[in-house]
Amino acid sequence: MSLPFPHRRRRKQMSAVNEILAQIGAAGRQEDGGYFRGCYSPEYFQAVDIVERQMQKIGMETDRDAAGNIHGVLPGNDPKAKSVVIGSHLDTVPGGGLYDGAYGVAAGLAVAKRLREEGKILRHTLEVYGFHGEESNPLGGTFGSRAIAGQVKPDQPGLAEALAAYGHNVREILDCRRDFSGVKCYLEAHIEQGDLLEQEGLKIGVVSGIVSVIRYRVTALGQSNHAGTTMMKNRRDAMVAMARLIAAADEECRKIDDTLVFTVGTIACQPGSENVIPGRVECTFEMRHMKKEKTDCLIGRIREIAAGIGTADFEITNKIDKGSVSCDSHLMEVISRSASEAGICHRIMASGAGHDANPMAHVTPIGMIFVPSRGGLSHCKEEWTSQEELESGTEVLYRTVLHLDEEAKE
Ligand SMILES: [Zn+2]
Repeated sequence: MSLPFPHRRRRKQMSAVNEILAQIGAAGRQEDGGYFRGCYSPEYFQAVDIVERQMQKIGMETDRDAAGNIHGVLPGNDPKAKSVVIGSHLDTVPGGGLYDGAYGVAAGLAVAKRLREEGKILRHTLEVYGFHGEESNPLGGTFGSRAIAGQVKPDQPGLAEALAAYGHNVREILDCRRDFSGVKCYLEAHIEQGDLLEQEGLKIGVVSGIVSVIRYRVTALGQSNHAGTTMMKNRRDAMVAMARLIAAADEECRKIDDTLVFTVGTIACQPGSENVIPGRVECTFEMRHMKKEKTDCLIGRIREIAAGIGTADFEITNKIDKGSVSCDSHLMEVISRSASEAGICHRIMASGAGHDANPMAHVTPIGMIFVPSRGGLSHCKEEWTSQEELESGTEVLYRTVLHLDEEAKE
């Protein structure tokens, strides 16, 4: 055992998770306090190097793959027991924060480190992944976790070209797929990226599932005409028609369910001239919820309202329909029990953001642990979670792993 550094005797010693997170934070830190570890970037691989060294220090066997993932294995002592896999991502958005993704990797490593320090050898092998390319990128989000889960489609438009630009090819990525028959479950700790926990004064979110992402392309077709000579009563203004539809859809969304969300994030206007009445306006309508009937209800109402707007014709087509995924009910129960035993107040909640747990849900049962995000802020340099909250999440993760290890059946 190494002795603590002298300066740590004076201050409260930093916990393992905070120490590991601080080390990862040395990669991609920018002058303004934000972080950027982009796809296949030197900064990203600097974080991989840091995590690899940490894994080796803990005594884990490590390997990397062409999809950019780093993987550490702490072998269990029962060859018949399946692996418990913990993971999250090491990449960030441009100007992102310290915690998104990196926290989950640091929490997994802190659990492995504690097991080693306490001399506990689990029956189950413990694996920790630092995933690559989870954030939006030219290869598509959750790239690294999709690669190992066999969820990368070789015919994904633009994939081969994007990979070639990074010096890789599709074959290598397809070969990153691993066998999940020996995996018991996947666990991910993550910052909430919303303000529900903070608002309710709670420390842990036991995630019930990850909401769907459903996007429609909505086009309003009116008539372009002279902005000076066309009287108001004669106009077929696509912009005004679209504005009416957006405002009405926002109102409907609030009526249907208070956890249903609706966003119009893009708009394109044609001809897009200051003195011409817009003839064509195209928007994306995005909606998210755990239950399909809620999003179906909203798009149904939007279609009815659109049909009633006489000054434009609407075309509504589905662009993306990523169904929601559910967390495993048994894992949710074990996580809740672990939090209760540690005396940490918690609640069940859905995740409004996607995670590496999405692709994992296709191949193994998933469980997720949320810790609070101050002010609900994320994907920005102001992203912050207190050291105590990070430790609480890690404590719950540690206890969850121990409980799962005690279970007789696989
Ligand atoms: Zn994330």
